[in-house]
Amino acid sequence: MSYVDEVIEQVVAKNPAEPEFHQAVKEVLESIRVVVEANEEKFRKEALLERIVNPERQIKFRVPWVDDNGQVQVNTGYRIQFNSAIGPYKGGLRLHPSVNLGIMKFLGFEQVFKNSLTGLAMGGAKGGSDFDPKGKSDREVMAFCQSFMNELYKYIGPNVDVPAGDIGTGAREIGFMFGQYKKIVGAFEGVLTGKGLSFGGSLARTEATGYGLLYLTAEMLKTNGIDIKGKTICVSGAGNVAIYAIEKAHQLGAKVVTCSDSTGWVYDPDGIDVAALKEIKEVKRARLTEYKNYRPNSEYHEGRGVWSIKCDIALPCATQNELLIDDAKALVANGVTAVCEGANMPTTLDATEYLQKNGVYFVPGKAANAGGVATSGLEMSQNSERLSWTFEEVDAKLKNIMVTLFHNLDDAAKKYGFEGNYVVGANIAGFEKVVNAMEAQGIV
Ligand code: GLU
Repeated sequence: MSYVDEVIEQVVAKNPAEPEFHQAVKEVLESIRVVVEANEEKFRKEALLERIVNPERQIKFRVPWVDDNGQVQVNTGYRIQFNSAIGPYKGGLRLHPSVNLGIMKFLGFEQVFKNSLTGLAMGGAKGGSDFDPKGKSDREVMAFCQSFMNELYKYIGPNVDVPAGDIGTGAREIGFMFGQYKKIVGAFEGVLTGKGLSFGGSLARTEATGYGLLYLTAEMLKTNGIDIKGKTICVSGAGNVAIYAIEKAHQLGAKVVTCSDSTGWVYDPDGIDVAALKEIKEVKRARLTEYKNYRPNSEYHEGRGVWSIKCDIALPCATQNELLIDDAKALVANGVTAVCEGANMPTTLDATEYLQKNGVYFVPGKAANAGGVATSGLEMSQNSERLSWTFEEVDAKLKNIMVTLFHNLDDAAKKYGFEGNYVVGANIAGFEKVVNAMEAQGIV
């Protein structure tokens, strides 16, 4: 059996009941097969694949807190410090009821390659908890965040591991966690990114993932002779990534006609009203059902359905495994040109394959959504030099990172004979840097 197949089998056998982790590993190892098989004996002898699929450290802890009724609640906290070959661990904290070990590991694994692709010195990590901030009071969220940090602080630090936001973790949660870290450690340091602007946060970090997604999408289309201007786009999600993806798409002259949340989706043929969306989601923390009050011509539908709308470009920005094979078929039947992932692994493996076989340009999340963590890297730089850059400076650096990132993966795909396959390109480009660093540092 080939070394790649052997390691995939091992991962499935040794990490039972972690389907998302298996999926992420399969996607990466299948696409770097050509690199490994060109030098299989060396890779096997040095156990490079086993070393890359096993996290350096997995931390799991109890998070007790008291709710507004005086009831004690207990959640589970995680931090997966996956790989530190190229820099301190870096990656978000997800607060969502679906969080479990397998999801944390898939996200941590993806983060290793994503961070490598940014060109910045950041290792890969992920963490979070099965706590659901939805419907909780500010005091409850604070109680949870403080308890979470009471344990997490032992394992993080500005040169060790720098967590950030993800689903369910925004400016409010990062603020509470930062305050608690500072209280315990007694030092004001850049231990988290996505901080408030008055205490070390970076301008453009809020916008970065969505803006970065559009910078990359526009560059990819341009490279293929297509102008994003005038294109119709379907976006899923209504969180931080989706909101700023829609905003930047409109600035670039495209029209976004959909968005969605966990209960339903909106179709607005005149283009999503970003100001309304921000008010509903960022200020009121309400459901998308409210959108119709702002835009009477729009439609609200319960359940899923964003991918049934005809579009040129699809940007899944909600969560993992939200674009399924039937959605891919509907998109292709409606003539979609490109799918670029704003979320982490939103497209299933069979849907990805179907899109690629049907000539759709497909850019995986580890490349397309890397603008968020890249700008976190820029926040770390600003914290280190105790300076704040202007919005324009950060935005220009972000754009440059996304354009360079796209050409790096495009070149990697070409170099190995997979021109236009951006999944292979992203995985090879991300992998090579990490593996070279691991080899140089010996067996550690
Ligand atoms: N959670 C984001 C991601 O998936 C951002 C991580 C960060 O800024 O460290 O990349």
